[in-house]
Amino acid sequence: MFPIGGAVSTAHRFNQPTEKDLREFIDLSLNLLCIAGADGYFKYVNPACERTLGYTREELLSRPYIEFVHADDRLATISEAEHVASGHSTVSFENRYRCKDGSYKWLLWSAMVRAETGLIYCAAVDVTERKCEESRQAAQYAVTRVLAEAPTLADATPKILQAICESLDWSVGAIWRVEQKEQVLHCVETWRKRPAQLKEFDLSTHSHAFSPGVGLPGRVWAQARPAWIEDVTHDPNFPRAAIATQEGLHAAFGFPILLGSEVLGVLEFFSQAIQQPDAKLLEMMSAVGSQIGQFIERTSAEDALRVYARDLENARQRAEEATRAKSEFLANISHEIRTPMNAMIGMTELALATRITREQREYLSAIESSADALLRLVNDLLDFSKIEARKLQLDHVAFNLRDALEDTMRVLAPRAQQKGVELACQIQPSVPDALVGDPLRLRQIVVNLVGNAIKFTEHGEVVLRVQLESSRNGNAQLHFSVTDTGIGIPVEKQAIIFEAFSQADSSTTRRYGGTGLGLAISAQLVELMGGKISVESQPDRGSTFHFTAWFEVQQAGTKKTPLLPWRTLAHLPVLIVDDNATNRRILEEVFANWHMRGVAVDGGRSALATLEDSLHKNQPFAVVLLDGHMPDMDGFTVAERISNDRRFAGTKLVMLTSAGQPEDVARCRNLGISAYLTKPIKQSELFDVIVTAIGQPLATRRRAPKLRKRSLSAHRRLHVLVAEDNQVNQLLATRIFEKLGHQVTVVSNGRDACSAVQAGKFDLVAMDVQMPEMDGLEATTAIRIWEKPRGTHIPIIAMTAHAMKGDRESCLAAGMDAYTSKPIRIRELERAITELVQAPVAKVPQAGGVIDQTALLAGVDGNRRLLREIARLFLADYPQRLAEIERAISRADAVSLGKAAHSLKGAIGNFAAENAYMAAQRLESIAKSGDLDMARDASARLESELVLLAEELRKFTGNSSTRVPKKHRVKKRKRG
Ligand code: ADP
Repeated sequence: MFPIGGAVSTAHRFNQPTEKDLREFIDLSLNLLCIAGADGYFKYVNPACERTLGYTREELLSRPYIEFVHADDRLATISEAEHVASGHSTVSFENRYRCKDGSYKWLLWSAMVRAETGLIYCAAVDVTERKCEESRQAAQYAVTRVLAEAPTLADATPKILQAICESLDWSVGAIWRVEQKEQVLHCVETWRKRPAQLKEFDLSTHSHAFSPGVGLPGRVWAQARPAWIEDVTHDPNFPRAAIATQEGLHAAFGFPILLGSEVLGVLEFFSQAIQQPDAKLLEMMSAVGSQIGQFIERTSAEDALRVYARDLENARQRAEEATRAKSEFLANISHEIRTPMNAMIGMTELALATRITREQREYLSAIESSADALLRLVNDLLDFSKIEARKLQLDHVAFNLRDALEDTMRVLAPRAQQKGVELACQIQPSVPDALVGDPLRLRQIVVNLVGNAIKFTEHGEVVLRVQLESSRNGNAQLHFSVTDTGIGIPVEKQAIIFEAFSQADSSTTRRYGGTGLGLAISAQLVELMGGKISVESQPDRGSTFHFTAWFEVQQAGTKKTPLLPWRTLAHLPVLIVDDNATNRRILEEVFANWHMRGVAVDGGRSALATLEDSLHKNQPFAVVLLDGHMPDMDGFTVAERISNDRRFAGTKLVMLTSAGQPEDVARCRNLGISAYLTKPIKQSELFDVIVTAIGQPLATRRRAPKLRKRSLSAHRRLHVLVAEDNQVNQLLATRIFEKLGHQVTVVSNGRDACSAVQAGKFDLVAMDVQMPEMDGLEATTAIRIWEKPRGTHIPIIAMTAHAMKGDRESCLAAGMDAYTSKPIRIRELERAITELVQAPVAKVPQAGGVIDQTALLAGVDGNRRLLREIARLFLADYPQRLAEIERAISRADAVSLGKAAHSLKGAIGNFAAENAYMAAQRLESIAKSGDLDMARDASARLESELVLLAEELRKFTGNSSTRVPKKHRVKKRKRG
């Protein structure tokens, strides 16, 4: 069974080992085997004891074994020995034994006592290597942990020293920093296991500075690798040897803190025992050194990052402050600029209205347009600062898109005309017309885009197109595009032009002017309208700017413009003559929308040919729409041919001329042209013109003609109080009011304005907002307080150079009634006054009279019979209204009072009797205010005015004397 039979047989012959055998066996053991007596001496030690500890057997047997035990382990060793002696055996007890060379070995013991002899039999294994490995691991782990947790190097260093000392059981640690400038090492931190000890060495370490190669730290620095000294007290290159000897320090090692190959510092550690170099420990410490290096790099990067983040935050705050300051500065500076510009523009307007030579007019016009340009610039800057300061808010008002855009294009037309660039506007029929949004800001965007397009186009056309992109929940998203055939924009510049102050080309700037703000403002406005702006462009081919915007669509109650309310106009044949293809397309579309039959041709010759043709076919054109300026044969020549040809006598001619060429108008008149329109044409105007041309009655006009309050003299002469501190502006305001036919008194601060209002009889106050002593807002508040118990209310118009949103609100909140921003424009002021004072234009009496006789007769077309009729009705009716008023006042019923006063006012309105009218109006206002304190006085005043009016009217009806005086009758009714 067993192939190695010999071996089996040997086992068979095995005799139990003799004592000699066992002794040899013990001698062979690598473990330490010894027998200790109860007297504390070894009685026997095997050769492994000698080999491990380096002592001879004699040496080991000659001294109590406790003397070989490490001082720190002695107590534990004695107690363990006693434990064993008392009959227990031990299996794992560890302690350190000192070797002959002074180093220590860790021994793991098992032991038992022979009860009969009291001898302790011990066996030990040398576990020094395992213990060292454990402490190395512990040290590395501890350092890694410190580095992971410590926020800064200063925080980490003492902890690293402590972690290494404690893990390795070494007594002192120190960390040195390389001072690059001085080329020395300085100790920055030390750690001692027992702070009470080793003080001298610590002091010495702190007071030393080592050059490269000197002492342990210097050596590590110079070699950039770890170093080990078994016993510093005998080392020739250890300047602190004397003190180390004194303090009982022996072994030492050091290692560099490395970042790449650069030594940033050195760590050194000291033990109170002499120790053999531990290559593994040094290897591990070199890794720890790199780890610390990386930590330093990371924390300094983090420090730098923190500094950076802090700087960034500071910079952000500074930038915000700067933006605020800049916006305020811009607002202030714009105020400062507006004040003198007020004078410039206003004086120029006034001067232009006087009798001046042609030359002077040219100069003044130049000043006016420059001032306008400057004002636009100031407005741009102000807008931009408002947008930047996030102060710009959009309006939300109802408006008519087609009117708004066509008006806008009209303003731009002269510029296009001057350059010979065609300007067209094409709004798709699906685009809703009645919108709610901010028409002024929309206009601003369009003016900027179309203005730019004209500016950067030398020939060709500029077309504004609008289409409906989408609609949702009663809102419409419109797509606007402005296409030009101009210089274009290189691709790489297309993104930057939307940034503030940026232009595609600085040389362009010099050629074309501009601030580079327009698109930045437009982009922001578009964003506020919930849309996006973009550009497509090819250099030398042209550009198309697109933008979208959301608007609310006006709901029920606002009727959509009917597309075809005039049956007679359906299929009306119209010949369109225009060399510009875009214009032709637009016009064709417009006529198609009106269900007319538009035929378009591209020039004079083809127009004449088409007209000939129409005669042959017996399908004459009702209207020929001619572009005035065409190559080859211009519109005027064509018109001349047509009007000279009797066969075309029934055909009406409508000329499209360009703004700014007054001679065109005269030519049109001479050629018998029915109507002329200025490009860009408004659809509504074109419609009106065509209707008028073919002889439709005016009643079928698509839109009621707008009322123009033109004549200044139609206004009531007012006594105006101007409160203004600036002398030039005082003069200007005075002139403007005088120009408008009013009488002016000037004061120069708010306090004087208050006194003047209280003392004098003014119809209107024009109040500067910023004034010394008492500003316009305070003065207004004071005036309103003073008026309250008196039941009066003088209209106050604010005149301010502040144009920020919110100024208007604060003016109105202070009790002002209207607001004009400087520079004061005559038209604006005129409008404000008309709205405020509401002079019944057609009903102003001749000075002194109760009734303006002329106006009265004009109102009834001179029909005296009709007038008598109306007067009779009024005389019969008004006492009842007065009675209603009386009743309403007694019941304090403001609503009925308002109604009665209103209908009475309407009735009086027929008779051009201003005083009575005003009295009724005042009563109505009082009713509206709900504060009826003043109602009785006002009603008495109205009554007495009516007495006078009734007297006058009876003259017309011819029975003045037979009637019971009104006052009397009212009283009677009241009593009854
Ligand atoms: P401004 O016109 O006052 O310089 P904008 O912000 O309106 O400022 O325009 C910025 C720049 O964009 C212009 O200076 C010009 O270089 C370029 N740009 C704008 N519109 C056009 C266009 N239609 N064609 C060519 N370049 C244009």
